[in-house]
Amino acid sequence: MSKINIAIDGFSSCGKSTLAKELAHHLGYTYIDSGAMYRAVALYAMENGLVREGKLDKAGLLRVLDELDISFRYDDRMQRSTTWINGRNVEQEIRGMEVSRHVTLVSPVPEVRAKLVRLQKALGLRGGVVMDGRDIGTVVFPRAEVKLYMTASTEVRARRRFLELVGKGEEVDYASVLDNIRQRDEDDTRRKADPLTKAPDAIEIDNSELTAGEQFELALGHVAKAIGEAAEV
Ligand code: C5P
Repeated sequence: MSKINIAIDGFSSCGKSTLAKELAHHLGYTYIDSGAMYRAVALYAMENGLVREGKLDKAGLLRVLDELDISFRYDDRMQRSTTWINGRNVEQEIRGMEVSRHVTLVSPVPEVRAKLVRLQKALGLRGGVVMDGRDIGTVVFPRAEVKLYMTASTEVRARRRFLELVGKGEEVDYASVLDNIRQRDEDDTRRKADPLTKAPDAIEIDNSELTAGEQFELALGHVAKAIGEAAEV
């Protein structure tokens, strides 16, 4: 049976990746975290002197953009996919607050988006992909059979993100996590290139009051219906 693509978009920290991973695992599909790719570019820029005093040296980034090799590799020991840039595993580094603070310097750059969108589209060519991000249902997979648009209140999202970071041993305070989420919401919805918007045919799921299990069942219902419909054609 041919496999469908599932696009999951929404604001920062609203549980997109948890749901996407669960769906991919359940269906035997591949999960792709598109945000990790933007985070990897941000980390590269930070480490290579292309971010100074909170400002991006855009011309400098554009000069090296073609040489950036971003990929995902499965780690058998950790049993999960990891993000690599130029042959280096950066999975750990890209998740911290420093990268979260700088990622919206690189994500509005049209040339960065063009490069990453091209890679993302290629990953979905044969179907069987669950991808999460901001522009998956609108730009990357505009013909995805299932599009979910997830929302949750800012405070609920900040609390979840704060607990996640503390759980990983990062020293952060709740106020700065909340601040970062507000800032990224604004940056991601206001940018000119591929801003976060709900695709007209996306199904909205507000999970502020849902447990992870309830959310999964709800999403799986939509996915099962689309897989059934795809099998009929
Ligand atoms: O999903 P995550 O929060 O890890 O994404 C980090 C950042 O990458 C977002 O705040 C956004 O600026 C950018 N991003 C994007 N388009 C995507 C995925 C992420 O612009 N498809």
